Amino acid sequence: MSKINKKIESLIRREIQEMAAYHVPEATGLVKLDAMENPFAWPEEMKVEWLQMLSKAEPNRYPDPSAKELVLGLRDCFDVPSELGVVLGNGSDELIQLILMAMNDGAAVMAPTPSFVMYRHIANSLGLSFVGVPLNKDFSLNVPAMISTIKQNDPAVIFLAYPNNPTANLFDDDDLLAILEAANGLVVIDEAYQPFAQKTFLNRAPDFEKLLVMRTVSKLGLAGLRLGFVVGHKSLTDQLEKIRLPYNINVFTQLTATFAFKQIDVLNAQAAVICEQRELLLEKLSSLLGVEVFPSEANFILFSLVSDSAESVFEALKQAGVLIKKMGDVPGLPSECLRVTVGTSSENDLFIEKLSSIVKQ
Ligand SMILES: *Cc1c(COP(=O)(O)O)cnc(C)c1O
Repeated sequence: MSKINKKIESLIRREIQEMAAYHVPEATGLVKLDAMENPFAWPEEMKVEWLQMLSKAEPNRYPDPSAKELVLGLRDCFDVPSELGVVLGNGSDELIQLILMAMNDGAAVMAPTPSFVMYRHIANSLGLSFVGVPLNKDFSLNVPAMISTIKQNDPAVIFLAYPNNPTANLFDDDDLLAILEAANGLVVIDEAYQPFAQKTFLNRAPDFEKLLVMRTVSKLGLAGLRLGFVVGHKSLTDQLEKIRLPYNINVFTQLTATFAFKQIDVLNAQAAVICEQRELLLEKLSSLLGVEVFPSEANFILFSLVSDSAESVFEALKQAGVLIKKMGDVPGLPSECLRVTVGTSSENDLFIEKLSSIVKQ
């Protein structure tokens, strides 16, 4: 190893050197059913109006650091209780980082496993320990195990994705409440897939000082904007606000999100179509003999293969022009699992057609 590498090695924290980078596969030319994006474009006249509105953007100026107009529109659009605070993030990924950055040295972070990989990835990157508690076989929360881990590890933050990614199910409300009661630290309910499940803890947030409800506009159809938000008691959001970088929401995102919130009916209608397509896709997947399908309340479906290898089916689909997500060896998931995002009707049909010719029936 050269001298400079030794130097870098001595500067970078050990846990970062041991981490693997978050890998995003190349998707050019493929039907993209891997990243829970909304597949629908905006209606033409909405697009024209948007571009016209964008002409008032001033890229030479810094954005409004508190994004006042955006926050007003957001509160209205998502019915945020007025007594609660809102913190904006460059995607909710950034909010996970922001919340964890505010914790004491040596704090522990807890989440069920499998769940969203960023909870562990970001905890590790900040030198915090991560404790995963395996889900039950049916992907419900193992409440007794979670409560005993709370007692043992006293996590400063617990993340609960509602619906969960990658399993696509909604956890039971009473289970979430039991964990909320038992927690000494913060509980973040991550509602990234709320547009497809319609269930929320937002209206309960005033009742719990330790509860943060996190949302993103990514899955609703604005993934390119990078905008997430977290709602909670002001005593808590005021602290987070201190370490939010002042210009984390850029000029174009502020204008575009404010515009989109006024046209939220368009995005909600698209989400409703995605839910209809999900039901059709669940039905078609269930009819394939070589596939076991798990229930979904999100815009993606987890399934496992009865006698094929996930790796080879993934590759064969890719060869056929369809990119989905291979789950790899995730503890707590059945082996040979794949995850597909619900696309347009023709994308889903293509996926089913290709999959049924690949999988052993
Ligand atoms: C996609 C996803 C996010 C991240 O959303 P961004 O706002 O795009 O960063 C957060 N949580 C869960 C559970 C997700 O699946």
